Amino acid sequence: MRTKSLKKNKINVVTLGCSKNVYDSEILMGQLKASGKAVVHEEEGNIVVINTCGFINNAKEESINTILEFMQKKEEGEVDKVFVTGCLSERYKPELLKEIPNVDQYFGTTELPALLKALGADYKHELIGERLTTTPKNYAYLKIAEGCDRPCSFCAIPIMRGKHKSTPINELVIEAEKLAAKGVKELILIAQDLTYYGLDIYKKRNLAELLEALVKVEGIEWIRLHYAFPTGFPMDVLEVMNREPKICNYLDIPLQHISDDILKSMRRGTTKEKTTQLINDFRAAVPNITLRTTLIMGYPGETEADFQLLKSWVKAMRFERLGCFTYSHEENTHAYNLEDDVPEEVKQQRANAIMELQSQISWELNQAKIGQTFKVVIDRKEGNYFVGRTEFDSPDVDNEVLIDASKTYLKTGEFTTVKIIDAADFDLFGEVV
Ligand code: SF4
Repeated sequence: MRTKSLKKNKINVVTLGCSKNVYDSEILMGQLKASGKAVVHEEEGNIVVINTCGFINNAKEESINTILEFMQKKEEGEVDKVFVTGCLSERYKPELLKEIPNVDQYFGTTELPALLKALGADYKHELIGERLTTTPKNYAYLKIAEGCDRPCSFCAIPIMRGKHKSTPINELVIEAEKLAAKGVKELILIAQDLTYYGLDIYKKRNLAELLEALVKVEGIEWIRLHYAFPTGFPMDVLEVMNREPKICNYLDIPLQHISDDILKSMRRGTTKEKTTQLINDFRAAVPNITLRTTLIMGYPGETEADFQLLKSWVKAMRFERLGCFTYSHEENTHAYNLEDDVPEEVKQQRANAIMELQSQISWELNQAKIGQTFKVVIDRKEGNYFVGRTEFDSPDVDNEVLIDASKTYLKTGEFTTVKIIDAADFDLFGEVV
């Protein structure tokens, strides 16, 4: 069947899931460009590569629906080829081959060279960090390691991403320099477990040394830390955070729960007492640190008492940023052997209750910012506002600073100084000073 009016052989890369998938898509696109291929990100193209997510049920559903959507377009002659890669493909290739056989080819998370070959391109090892970034020009993710060695009972990531593998410091510095040369000012460091960095290749937790090297990269103004793990946290990182203004006083550390019974069953290797002490140590070491955490509601065996314990702990600890997931019963994880005994609606009720509490906490913390002045990076203009973030806000997940666009003109990617004049639960309103 003749394809309609589409320009021949433009590769459209579609990214689902987390920032690590965004990074992988950008690497794929960089390699394709280096092989002279026309490549776009989520725009029209007659060849489609879907980089899927296989983490939890909702994400898997979204990935499958996206595949089916493009298979429909292929059916209708709108696209010629559909390739599928990423975590869902890594985890469920045999099932996908049976259920959706007309996909041109499925690839796992470690099969970039084979995927490139199928797209008529060659894998070039020398292209260290060469990628087409898909984030706004002023910030980019820097994946410092892949995979995970942790045994968390609910998590399928090690099944899809394999063992922890750190990227050497010198390669990450080269990558950061290339990003800075393209105008990136903010690096968001990501991994499955950031704090494990270096244990494989340097035989020690080496995140602090990596940070020392990255702060020397000209042009980079902010470095942000995501996906830390509570057990064995390298406290020397906080010393660098205090000393180096480029390191945002911000830390994302998913804690998942706080009841000792649940933490034990989750195989998190920590306790309520140790976790509370760790949070207090963070706040003592870096007084104005902003902590982001993530919690799971409705894990097998979670009682009303466990939930109430967590709720009162969240109330007491007052995280600056907090997100919630409902437990997803994932095959081949350790927790899959347990009974998924908390009804879906109860999981959701508990998650809603925690987020309601958090919106109150966030509102109160934001009220205290009125009258204060902050360095703000402008991410975009939206309607009547320029939209920016302080060093305490990560893109897409945290608060934003809204600046009335009728009163000033600001450039995207520019840093400016803003006085906060009003605040809502998850947004701040400011004026340039
Ligand atoms: S540390 Fe994170 S990625 Fe690793 S197993 Fe635990 S939850 Fe999964």
